[in-house]
Amino acid sequence: MAHKTLFTKIIDGEIPAKVVYRDEQIVAIQDINPQAPTHLLVIPVKPLPSLAQAEAGDQALLGALLLAAHRVAEQAGLAAGGYRLVINTGAHAGQTVPHLHVHVLGGRPMAWPPG
Ligand code: 5GP
Repeated sequence: MAHKTLFTKIIDGEIPAKVVYRDEQIVAIQDINPQAPTHLLVIPVKPLPSLAQAEAGDQALLGALLLAAHRVAEQAGLAAGGYRLVINTGAHAGQTVPHLHVHVLGGRPMAWPPG
């Protein structure tokens, strides 16, 4: 069987995580090392290594990821104050887990430009 990513192991329940949202295509969890008062990860069940590997056939999934990101932000109480979405893609962005995920950060003002 093919190697499972860290996030696939979490989605499959092999590694524990605090799940805040789940449907057939998408799972959202709390980040283990939060960089803001609220830090969630919105992850497609399909283990695309990064945005760079997404194809035309993934268009609906990518849209669903953004809609889910807003939904979990709203559920976490971030809608009024606002929040930031981050998709680290590749080495220069600092991507560490090779399974596409959207960071949802909120609960404090965010600096710009990012690091
Ligand atoms: P990246 O650096 O790839 O954009 O983001 C990976 C994120 O996954 C990091 O924010 C990191 O804290 C988080 N992370 C790494 N390992 C685990 C884990 O085992 N559980 C959870 N919940 N988050 C993790």
